[in-house]
Amino acid sequence: MATKKTTGTRTSHSRSSAASRTGPGTGKRITARDLKSFRRRLEDELTVLTGRHAGLKAASAVSPDIAGAGGYGEEAADAGSFTSERERDLSLVGNLRDLISKIQAALERIDDGSYGRCEVCGQPIEAERLDALPYTTLCLADARRRARVR
Ligand SMILES: [Zn+2]
Repeated sequence: MATKKTTGTRTSHSRSSAASRTGPGTGKRITARDLKSFRRRLEDELTVLTGRHAGLKAASAVSPDIAGAGGYGEEAADAGSFTSERERDLSLVGNLRDLISKIQAALERIDDGSYGRCEVCGQPIEAERLDALPYTTLCLADARRRARVR
């Protein structure tokens, strides 16, 4: 048994910051234990998503010319719904791939120790936000800013 004491839980780190208060809502810091549970969550999600992704990819590859053959006749309604369903599947595959790569990147950040930091401003990402979106790379403020730019 290693004689490791649980250090760090206390706020004895007086960084000689008499005047600087921590910002609003940044009370919670990510601990090693949090990291472990984030990693587990991300890994679980990755497994699920990878499986779903493989299934969807196989499904959408089955009949590549199903929409092309019929032409756009009077029965376009039927064909249309077919196509849009396919498109939805395809975009789903895209979303999944996107999500998968985000999760993989998050796991890498856990490994290299940069997890939980905003990639724009370098500040720690809010704990509640990470809890909801464990793979996010942006703090709330920067996520909002980015969403507004769009
Ligand atoms: Zn930020």
